Amino acid sequence: MSDPQIEKLLQVQICDMKLQKIEQDLSRLPKELDAYRAKIAAEQLAIEQARQSVAALEVQRSEMDSQVTSLETEIQRFRNQQLEVKKNEEYRALTAQIELAESSISDLEEKEIELMFTIDSAKEAFEEQKQLIEARIREQEKLIGLLADKEQLLKDSSGTAQSDLSDARDRAGPEYLEQYDRVAKLVKKPPYLVAIKSQKCSGCHLRVSNEVSHMATVGGEPSYCDQCARMVYM
Ligand SMILES: [Zn+2]
Repeated sequence: MSDPQIEKLLQVQICDMKLQKIEQDLSRLPKELDAYRAKIAAEQLAIEQARQSVAALEVQRSEMDSQVTSLETEIQRFRNQQLEVKKNEEYRALTAQIELAESSISDLEEKEIELMFTIDSAKEAFEEQKQLIEARIREQEKLIGLLADKEQLLKDSSGTAQSDLSDARDRAGPEYLEQYDRVAKLVKKPPYLVAIKSQKCSGCHLRVSNEVSHMATVGGEPSYCDQCARMVYM
């Protein structure tokens, strides 16, 4: 490289790229955080749904209990009525109703026992599932913690990179720097300053003219690729 100014600009570019990479990494963090939080929310929803289905079974059971209680009240009422009736026929009709109610109670109690087994295994399954889910939530929370560490590290290195960049810019020649900044605005994505290799620009990989190639070899003032406008050097 024949131009010492280019060497200084290359240092600026290295610092620029480093800082941009850090900023890119930082800008990705909120999305990562959202993704972890969304996973946690989905897991919590799954726990809640499992809890609700166990609760629904409990409600079913307590409904059966109240059905039994009201049937028992009914039976008591029939028995009291039996004490008052005069005719055998009426008495027998009440007996039939009592028997019917008793048989309903026994059906309900049978179903309730089955339901209790169902509730027990649902509770067991729920506890197992809950533990797995909670472990997964802890895992996501750990990742969120790591993300916070990463953010702090990136912010620290961003500070260093900014001061390195500012030092490198201070060392570079103002005219070259001005052109470098102009090219940076134009090209948008680094590298802004690239070597010519085998008469091709390393930025766009297209052939540069003989004139540009010659100017870049001589040095002394900035040269630009004919195709992509990047600053070039040999
Ligand atoms: Zn080019």
